[in-house]
Amino acid sequence: MARFIAQIEAILKQAATQAGFDLAGVAPARLGDSRELQFFSDWIAGGRAGEMAYLESRDGVGRLKRAALECIAPWARSVVVCALNYNTAHPRSTECHDPERGWVSRYAWGYADYHDVIMERLRRVEACLRAEVGDATIETRCYVDTGPVVERVLASYAGVGWIGKNTCLINQRAGSWLFLGVILTSLELTPDLPAPDRCGSCTRCLDACPTHAFVAARELDPTRCISYLTIEKRGAIPEELRAGMRNHVFGCDICQDVCPWNRKAPTSAAPEFQPRPKGFYPVLAWVANLSDEGFRASYRRSAIRRAKRSGLRRNAVVAMGNSGERGFVPLLQQLTGDSDPVVAEHAEWALRKIGDL
Ligand code: SF4
Ligand code: SF4
Repeated sequence: MARFIAQIEAILKQAATQAGFDLAGVAPARLGDSRELQFFSDWIAGGRAGEMAYLESRDGVGRLKRAALECIAPWARSVVVCALNYNTAHPRSTECHDPERGWVSRYAWGYADYHDVIMERLRRVEACLRAEVGDATIETRCYVDTGPVVERVLASYAGVGWIGKNTCLINQRAGSWLFLGVILTSLELTPDLPAPDRCGSCTRCLDACPTHAFVAARELDPTRCISYLTIEKRGAIPEELRAGMRNHVFGCDICQDVCPWNRKAPTSAAPEFQPRPKGFYPVLAWVANLSDEGFRASYRRSAIRRAKRSGLRRNAVVAMGNSGERGFVPLLQQLTGDSDPVVAEHAEWALRKIGDL
C-alpha cells in the first residue's frame, strides 16, 4: 500500500506539472489544533471580516466552515495544493509614479478570470488522480478561492511556501505572485514537510503599508487594507483612509512589491496573465468616466468586475484627489453632479483634497 501511495504522489506531482502548475504539495486534511486556523476563528470573532460575510459562513451546528475541513468534507483525508505563478515582466507599483494613472493589482491584469484558469488545470490533475486510483473508490473536490477553504494555510502545510508577515504565501524560488488551488481527496496521502519561515527579522511589508493595516506581523485588519477598500467595500470609503489609498483603483500590491523574496521572482509568459489594454495602470480620467457598457466590454471575464463599476469609478475619483493634480479639477467638478451619489460625494472630497473647494 505504501508503495502504491508513493507512486500516486509521484504521478500527482507530474500531472500538476503537465497541467502547467509551478508548484504542488500534499497537506493533511485534518490540521487539528493548527494555530493558523485557531487564529482564523479568533480573527472572525474579533469582527475583522468587515463586509466579507462569506468568510463567516457556518455549518449546520454553527462551526465556522473555513476553520476546519471536517465541516465541509468529513470524508477528506488529504489535500493536494497546486500553485501557479502569475507574475509577468512588468513594473511594480512602487516603480510607477504617473499621477494620471491608477494601480490595478497584478493578479487582475490578465485576459481571463484566474478562477477559471486554475480550475481548468486542477480538473486535469483531479482526473489523473481518479483514473489512477479508480474512479469509484475515492471522493475528490476542487476549490479555487471561492470555497470555504483557507488555501494558503493548506499550502504552508503542503510545503509550497510559508505564510509571510504580509500574510501572503511565499515560496523561496517563486516569490508570492501565486494563484492557489486545492483538491480535497479521501485518499490518505503522505503529507509533505511544511516550508520553514524565511521572513527572519525583515519588516519591510509591515513598514510600507500606507493605511497601517497590519495590527501585527501576519495579522491584518482587512477593513483598513486597500484591497478590501477598493474591491469589497461598497458605498463610502471612511474619510480617514482615503489619503492612504494613494492611486489604487483595484487592489494593492505594495506589501508584496517590497518583499525581498519577490525581487527575483520568475515571470510567466502565459498569454492569459499578460495585461489587457485597460487592465494595467489605466488612465484615471478614463476609469472615472466608464459607462456601464464600457465597464462590461473592458473587463469581460476579469477579476476587476468584483469591484463593480460604481466602486471602480469611486476609487478613481479618490486617486485623482490623492494625485493633487489640478488638471483633474474640471472633471471632478463635473462628477460632483454624477448620478451615482457615492461618486459625487467622493468627487467633492477629492476637490477639497486638491484644494479647490
Ligand atoms: S495590500 Fe496594501 S493596504 Fe493591504 S496590507 Fe498590503 S500594503 Fe497594506
Ligand atoms: S517583506 Fe520581509 S517580512 Fe514581509 S513577507 Fe517579505 S520577507 Fe517577510
